[in-house]
Amino acid sequence: MSIAMPATAPTKIPTMVNVAVFGATGSIGQNTLDVVARHPDRFTVFALAAQRNVAALKAQCLQYKPRFAALADPQAAVQLRKELREERCSTEVLAGASALDELAAHPDVHTVMAAIVGAAGLSSTLAAARAGKRILLANKESLVMSGKLFMQAVHHGKAHLLPIDSEHNAIFQCLPDTRLAADNIQPGIKRLLLTASGGPFLRTSSSALHNITPEQACAHPRWIMGKKISVDSATLMNKGLELIEASLLFAMSATQIDVLIHPQSIVHSLVEYVDGSMLAQLGNPDMRTPIAFALGWPARITSGVESLDLVQLSKLEFEAPDDIRFPCLRLARDAAKCGDSAPAALNAANEVAVAAFLDGQLRFTEIANVIDAVLQKHQVVPLDSLEAVMHVDAWARECAIKHRNSASHPTVLSNSIDVRMI
Ligand code: NAD
Ligand code: MG
Repeated sequence: MSIAMPATAPTKIPTMVNVAVFGATGSIGQNTLDVVARHPDRFTVFALAAQRNVAALKAQCLQYKPRFAALADPQAAVQLRKELREERCSTEVLAGASALDELAAHPDVHTVMAAIVGAAGLSSTLAAARAGKRILLANKESLVMSGKLFMQAVHHGKAHLLPIDSEHNAIFQCLPDTRLAADNIQPGIKRLLLTASGGPFLRTSSSALHNITPEQACAHPRWIMGKKISVDSATLMNKGLELIEASLLFAMSATQIDVLIHPQSIVHSLVEYVDGSMLAQLGNPDMRTPIAFALGWPARITSGVESLDLVQLSKLEFEAPDDIRFPCLRLARDAAKCGDSAPAALNAANEVAVAAFLDGQLRFTEIANVIDAVLQKHQVVPLDSLEAVMHVDAWARECAIKHRNSASHPTVLSNSIDVRMI
């Protein structure tokens, strides 16, 4: 097995680390700023970036005083610039997606938190990879869609890629020191086990799943997250995307990665070795733990997360996932086995279907149907350039929109959620 991770600790970590937070106004972005603020002697907030939420980014600029702020929406950036000037805040405001790419590659940035949601994060995350930054990867969709191309950019750019997804962060913590591989010693890894809470509908019948509303789907029992990943957790597509993510990060085939439902979300994932040992990482379900791990690595730094009380917890349960009620997991596993452009098509179709569900245009159970229809039509091709990735992404979106329109029953669904204001 080859672990696509830094083989040794980076030799030069600056005493003061400049951090750029992409997706700053979201759930991961806010948790990152919480951890960063606990270590003013170690980290400086150099840049903050988001889509269009002026009020939230303004408040963060006034609190953290970054050198740069960027909004992908140009009009929102104009508004932010005006409001910060009125507050006499010296943060320079940049506008548009290309500004995000420039910031990700800025020579003064050491660490990039890639926490934009969805395919929108690909460009800036790739820019950080090419520029050789330490990338804290929360934006799993960018890796899923660009696959080996992304890993090559990390390799060629000599970037350091550290997983933020709690499962992948746990696996990283349970893997042997990668210097073993450098010395040609076999690490003896048998398989990876990704844990999943099972989401809010773990015990919901197939027939009841039909009438699920966006509010119900976004009410995750263990984690507080953005809406898109919350719906992905409810369909188990999140675990499917994570399976693809794990196979790319740790260079394992999809057949060596199993998914295990663990409703308590305390064991964040496991690695099984050939001698029968299983190593697991445990902790309270709080994203500040993997964020602090990746920010400080190889040092351990405090995160603000409470100690796990094992006595109070008393029991940990595990069960197999149900592929019948949650077909998205099977679709993602099939795409992972297929490789090449299949994960990119799966990801794009899922983004379209989830947005339609949140908008009240598609039933919860139709999300998988739309993705399935797109994958059935998709002609798998190798992805050898970013253009090829974007071509598949655009094709799959168009195809998903056609299937969404033919599947939709707008009169039956209510309680849509505005996904655009984050
Ligand atoms: P969120 O919806 O709370 O936040 C998304 C952020 O992305 C916001 O700051 C938004 O402004 C920004 N954004 C959206 N579109 C953008 C665009 N076009 N240009 C620039 N910025 C844009 O999402 P989240 O829950 O923080 O998740 C972020 C990423 O982290 C996702 O890829 C998710 O899968 C991953 N992740 C999240 C968690 C979690 O606990 N929330 C856990 C593991 C992985
Ligand atoms: Mg996860």
